[in-house]
Amino acid sequence: MTSRISTLAVHAGEEKRKPYGAVTTPIVRTSTFTFADSAEIMAFMRLKASGAWPVRDEYGRYSNPTQSAAERKLAALEGGQAALLFSSGMGAITCTLLALLSSGDHVIFVKDCYHRSREFMTKCLPRWGIECTPVLLDEPAALEAAVRPNTRLILTETPTNPYLRVVDLGRISKIASKHRVITMVDSTMASPVNLKPLEYGIDLVIHSATKYLGGHNDLLAGAVIGPRSLLQGVEHMRGLLGGMSNPNEAYLLLRGLKTLALRVQRQNENGLMVAQFLEGHPRVLRVYYPGLASHPDHEVAARQMAGFGGVVTFELQGDLDMTGQFIDELRIPYIGPTFGGVESIVEQPAALLSLDPREREAAGIKDNLVRYALGVEDAEDLIADLDQALAKTWQGV
Ligand SMILES: *Cc1c(COP(=O)(O)O)cnc(C)c1O
Repeated sequence: MTSRISTLAVHAGEEKRKPYGAVTTPIVRTSTFTFADSAEIMAFMRLKASGAWPVRDEYGRYSNPTQSAAERKLAALEGGQAALLFSSGMGAITCTLLALLSSGDHVIFVKDCYHRSREFMTKCLPRWGIECTPVLLDEPAALEAAVRPNTRLILTETPTNPYLRVVDLGRISKIASKHRVITMVDSTMASPVNLKPLEYGIDLVIHSATKYLGGHNDLLAGAVIGPRSLLQGVEHMRGLLGGMSNPNEAYLLLRGLKTLALRVQRQNENGLMVAQFLEGHPRVLRVYYPGLASHPDHEVAARQMAGFGGVVTFELQGDLDMTGQFIDELRIPYIGPTFGGVESIVEQPAALLSLDPREREAAGIKDNLVRYALGVEDAEDLIADLDQALAKTWQGV
């Protein structure tokens, strides 16, 4: 029986019969897992040596039952063989890269990717003899042209941040398999409700579970999902580096995941309605939302995604200060640098990027840019709020 996304979100990965007949998976708070006697240790060691997986829990830095349940649920949601949970999205990205790459390898990444991933690839990996080449999305031939005999991995993100560019995953995996290169997609912005990269032949999916997967702005976690063959080395590296999540976060993630499909469906609806409203407003110069026909990647997004997501980016008719003033006039959203939770959150990317206007320009971030991450509030209220803030900001101008 194959289940659909909402059923998987509620039930996948969890035992039907839990301790004490509880409905929910328990938070197993323990640092280590004991053995009854020496014979049990020997049986465990023999099982491990046979390559069996999963084996029983041994020590909290390697695995924990609450965490394993969250991993099984994530694997089911992405349609992957296995998942590994980490203390953050960056924990997942850096550990996976360190496990898969060696000195002398070459990595290609999409330039628009998360700025900390980019920093790790351009500033840290070269120190260990790994070269990284950025490619631009608007140059389709650049990706294949960048492939070298020692290219080991291609990392992309879709949709990207903050311009929500959508990458054609079928095209990337075709080029990668021709050259026998591993493909890794940071799918944080899409969530498995809107996109399943593995269906397009991508090898590994990365998530910052801090965003849509957790969904309540109350946890930090990360995950990588894919075939056991690739994840075995990553799991070993996680044990060495110590980037494991913890049972409390894993429980919050399990709880948040149950409503993933409901939340993202609402956020998709809010995203489209808010984007359409903004596109029709005279004080808004440009709206970036893959669900709008005006978006450069609308056609790929419509083909590849089940929904267009809950983040809308737009440019206002104004400078750094005026844009800040508009944000201050909004009454519903919080001001801050994240997305994916039930609470709407707005940010002015330029304001958090740098105090130096030249640095902002070099990063391609305009002063009048706003990124609005929609929560699950009512679209009518969010739109009315935007409308009053736009009116107030330009009052008497
Ligand atoms: C937030 C984010 C990350 C980093 O995740 P953390 O959980 O904050 O470490 C990585 N990639 C993308 C696309 C993100 O939005």
